Amino acid sequence: MLPTAIVSARGEARLRQGHPWIYRADVADTAAEPGDIVDVIGPRQRFLGRALFSDQSQITLRLLTREDEEVDAAFWRRRIDAAVRYRAQLEIDATAYRLVHGEADLIPSLIVDRYASVLVVQALSQAIDRALPELVPLLVEITGATGVLARNDPRVRLLEGLEQRVEVLSGEVPERIVVREGPIEYHVDTRHGQKTGLFLDQRENREAAARYARGRVLDAFSYDGAFALRLARHADRAEAVDSSAEAVRRVAENARLNAIENVAPREANVFDELRELERSGARYDTIVLDPPAFAKNKASIPKALAGYKDINLRALRLLNPGGVLITCSCSYNVDEATFAATIYEASVDSHVPVTVVEKRMQGRDHPVLLGVPETYYLKCLILRRLI
Ligand code: SAH
Repeated sequence: MLPTAIVSARGEARLRQGHPWIYRADVADTAAEPGDIVDVIGPRQRFLGRALFSDQSQITLRLLTREDEEVDAAFWRRRIDAAVRYRAQLEIDATAYRLVHGEADLIPSLIVDRYASVLVVQALSQAIDRALPELVPLLVEITGATGVLARNDPRVRLLEGLEQRVEVLSGEVPERIVVREGPIEYHVDTRHGQKTGLFLDQRENREAAARYARGRVLDAFSYDGAFALRLARHADRAEAVDSSAEAVRRVAENARLNAIENVAPREANVFDELRELERSGARYDTIVLDPPAFAKNKASIPKALAGYKDINLRALRLLNPGGVLITCSCSYNVDEATFAATIYEASVDSHVPVTVVEKRMQGRDHPVLLGVPETYYLKCLILRRLI
């Protein structure tokens, strides 16, 4: 007998709709320990599936399967195999990409990113944290990885009552790993870099942006300069702006690694910098706006929208006619329609007519699970200034 969780009628209805999460309010009773895998039982004693149980998070249950199947090594292997095989089908022209994207690979709360021969994992729930000793050897066997690092320092782990720690779980993980994305190589510090090292979710948007890049390029919120480096090959000059001195240092380092000489990184606050550039009469042919999530929660949405509008309005004014703006939002709390409406406002207020050339999202290695809006967070619009 597995431990059990009995859900309310509302919980059962939610599972029927296809959402894998059951919140605490919809769980009537549990007989389980933190991090157990439980049988999910409906209000009329019906078996609904098996789930990851958390005694701390508001998300009490994360559904693993609707079948009466054992969640054993063979189960995990099937799920990991499927995720890995899907990435192989994508024929990704890079050595760094996401292998397992949690809910969207039916392994809720597990993230696995590949950086050359190293895997970086994040266990974002009690049960996945507990399952890591079982999952890591499978990951190594399936991918042939030479090292596995746990980047278990995201703040969401605190909601699970899990500590934040970074540790090597298998093999060796060098301090610095060189990966390739298309024609560009990067030094990655998987222990200290943002996210798991790189913003892998933007890989395909960088590829897309490169198709429009020309003239003078501004990469605003550049981090380690991934857009700037990629676009510089098609441009006269690419300026990368980030408020982090460490990021600026890394842009310069990556430019050297690739022998790219027309990338100029500088440390500045983008909000101030855009104003300053406007005052000085600067003009660009290609601008990328890839800010951090301005809306971390619902309460900050109005302020976030004001921020998105401000930077987009100023970027549009800085563009030459015919110039292209690649504008992104990774705020899950700002949906696609709201983001598009904000860009429209920026266009109206700046008196800059634009056409939408492409509507994009996070890369295909970070797929969206339909019916689970939480898995759709990155929006990317490519706009062209008409006159
Ligand atoms: N474009 C990058 C990812 C950017 S992440 C890529 O493709 O890899 C967001 C970046 O914005 C972070 O590096 C952070 O340091 C920077 N940042 C946050 N607030 C900022 C501000 N007000 N001005 C400039 N940079 C900022």
